[in-house]
Amino acid sequence: MNTVKKLWKLGRKEFNTEHLDVNKEGELIVREGNTQYNIYDLVRKFDSPTEIFLPFILEQRLSHLLETFANTAKELDYKGKYFYHYPMKVNQNKEFVLTLVSEGAHLEVSSANELWFVEKLWEEQNFYNKIRVLCNGPKTPHYIRTIEKVRSNGLSIVPIIENLNEFALLKDFKGDIGIRINLKTRVSSHWDHPIDRFGLTSEEILDLGKIKNLKILHYHIGSQIELEKDMIEPVKEAFLTYKKLKKLNPGLDTMDLGGGFAVPYEKKRMYSVESVVKKILQLLRTLSDEARIPHPNVIVEWGRHITAPSQFTIFKIVASKSIEGAL
Ligand SMILES: *Cc1c(COP(=O)(O)O)cnc(C)c1O
Repeated sequence: MNTVKKLWKLGRKEFNTEHLDVNKEGELIVREGNTQYNIYDLVRKFDSPTEIFLPFILEQRLSHLLETFANTAKELDYKGKYFYHYPMKVNQNKEFVLTLVSEGAHLEVSSANELWFVEKLWEEQNFYNKIRVLCNGPKTPHYIRTIEKVRSNGLSIVPIIENLNEFALLKDFKGDIGIRINLKTRVSSHWDHPIDRFGLTSEEILDLGKIKNLKILHYHIGSQIELEKDMIEPVKEAFLTYKKLKKLNPGLDTMDLGGGFAVPYEKKRMYSVESVVKKILQLLRTLSDEARIPHPNVIVEWGRHITAPSQFTIFKIVASKSIEGAL
């Protein structure tokens, strides 16, 4: 039994498997508080492969993130607010979206299709009207029409400008606007391209002068970012532009730091939520105090960090062979 636990790294917080265990019969179980689910029984009932989804893990992870922001902001006397926006490309199932929204998540969509789905949920009155939706991705005419329509139905929606063409298309947009910056900082991640085509450079953004209704400066620099310093360095660079933009656009009050918080897939020492949140807020507090501007509101869109451990798939073993020295 212990061999199985060890092989699959079960019951270990550092691998996000603290809810998993094997019982005396050697069957896989999941614990939620003092309740125990027998996964083996489920798979016997539904056959293989079976996908298991544990909404309570989503709830726990998001409430841990929001609590960490709350505690840290209090400790550091950070005056800005913080928001979590769930990047819907991670998983668009209603079970995911509604579970997270019920814990306080806002949303981020990257296409007209995802926005269409949000519109349906909104029409079914699943959401409280304080929810806000950020719109990334190429703004096709259809996408922009959907944005306008959803906005006029009362949903708070913020299109994020990703290039100069979109800037022109959204010039007369009535609500809040965001803009995506393409940073020079490069990080070691699953998005390790020498060239990033998304967003405008700092120079391009500042050349636009005053941007009507500008509210958010956004970047998304990578996924599965390996080092803690790479979670912090981009904040520093983005702040330089934020500070200059704020002079021209006093309504700008929010920095959206995108996704990237890694999941411990391999045996590596991982950074913690507590530590990253503290470093981000400390840095932003110092920089904005020095610049004599209010502490910015902070958005994070950490997708896989919140969702990855809530879902797994069980496959039947159809053949096996022993490998010497495997364990
Ligand atoms: C993919 C994506 C995310 C989520 O990235 P994770 O690595 O899962 O945290 C967040 N924001 C944007 C704009 C994305 O494209």
